[in-house]
Amino acid sequence: MSTGFQGKFHRQNILSRLAKDLVRRSRSHCELCDHNGVKLEPFEIPPIEEEPYLDGCLFICDGCRKQIVEPKKMIPTHWRCLNNALYSEVPAVQVMSFRILKRLAGSGERWAEELLEHAYLDPELEAWANEAE
Ligand SMILES: [Zn+2]
Repeated sequence: MSTGFQGKFHRQNILSRLAKDLVRRSRSHCELCDHNGVKLEPFEIPPIEEEPYLDGCLFICDGCRKQIVEPKKMIPTHWRCLNNALYSEVPAVQVMSFRILKRLAGSGERWAEELLEHAYLDPELEAWANEAE
């Protein structure tokens, strides 16, 4: 069992290998806000599995990442982009969009609530989306 530094290193290794596929999948655009020409990095959707895998990762910019990990810093207008991301053909993007919209709706953003009302997620993806906040 790999833990501590070695485990982290192993994980980083897998993630950097996945990055190649993520570049291709995202066409070098942030998978949430669609920005390009910015630094993009793999982001694992929690709860994370023992080993990172492509379908459990997003390729996103720093602006998006920061707001995901620090919900207090969320800028609601930034997330209007989810209007499109929610209908991405990539399941991981749909799931993360759904979660972020739930957070926004929970903090009183009416537009986010409306988007969610009209959203359709496969039951399987909805269950995944509900696995974590
Ligand atoms: Zn972004």
